[in-house]
Amino acid sequence: MNDLTYIQQRFVNYIETIIKTDKLSHSYLIELGDVSLDYPFVLLFVKMILCPYSVSNIDGLNCNRCNTCQLIDEGNFPDLEIIEADGMQIKKKQLLSLKEEYQNYSLIGHRRVYIIREAEKLNPSSANTILKFLEEPEEGIIAILLTKNRYQVLDTILSRCQVLSLVDSTEISSVDDTVIRFIRYLISGDDLFVYYKEILDSIMPDKTVAKEVFDIVEKIFIQFLSGQENKQTSFLNDTHRDKILSYITIIEEEIPKLVYNINYKLWLDSIFSRFVEVK
Ligand SMILES: [Zn+2]
Repeated sequence: MNDLTYIQQRFVNYIETIIKTDKLSHSYLIELGDVSLDYPFVLLFVKMILCPYSVSNIDGLNCNRCNTCQLIDEGNFPDLEIIEADGMQIKKKQLLSLKEEYQNYSLIGHRRVYIIREAEKLNPSSANTILKFLEEPEEGIIAILLTKNRYQVLDTILSRCQVLSLVDSTEISSVDDTVIRFIRYLISGDDLFVYYKEILDSIMPDKTVAKEVFDIVEKIFIQFLSGQENKQTSFLNDTHRDKILSYITIIEEEIPKLVYNINYKLWLDSIFSRFVEVK
């Protein structure tokens, strides 16, 4: 995998860190941009999770050569189940049989993975089937849900997953778009959020721009809280209410500091780390 984009490289760094530090979560929602380009990164992650040599190999975190890695590439690894939508929906019975199979303990290795493609096609009934499974999985079972748009995934699912994104966030064209993207990062609880700090630095090169951006962000938040539905607030929802209140508080406390002769970089670092705490 040569010539990785910025966001792909970030993704690889991040999953390497997860594996090295043994901080694997039970469930991930991975947002994909171009599915054909991004899916190999999902498989890389799966191999990192399942390959028995993954941590000891010095060339990288997964060997790509062992029996496990080869079977994964061929789509024949028994402890990796891939669920795809049956037509327009992922049906309840597909998940029931997954559950049944995975609750039978017949592990080859110490972990099993299941992937649900197009997680936005989980309807409330099929979602219900796996909620408990996502929440209290059997030891060693890891869920990877994929979607092209996390905002189309049911909140009940979203809130139980760690979100990683492979969507390129560098295509920023207008200020409005920039602001919306920024709000999406704030709201999403994305684990890659920490990497967006660099992008924020470029969006807000100085105090004046930062004040403009945060003024718009605050306005959009307030519109949402006061129940004004519009295009800009359409992706926000009720479960974000508390977060949004915290963000407004932070913005209102931090923005007035800009009139003083402060070190702008330090100020941006500080507001950013306060945002991360809310996440
Ligand atoms: Zn391997």
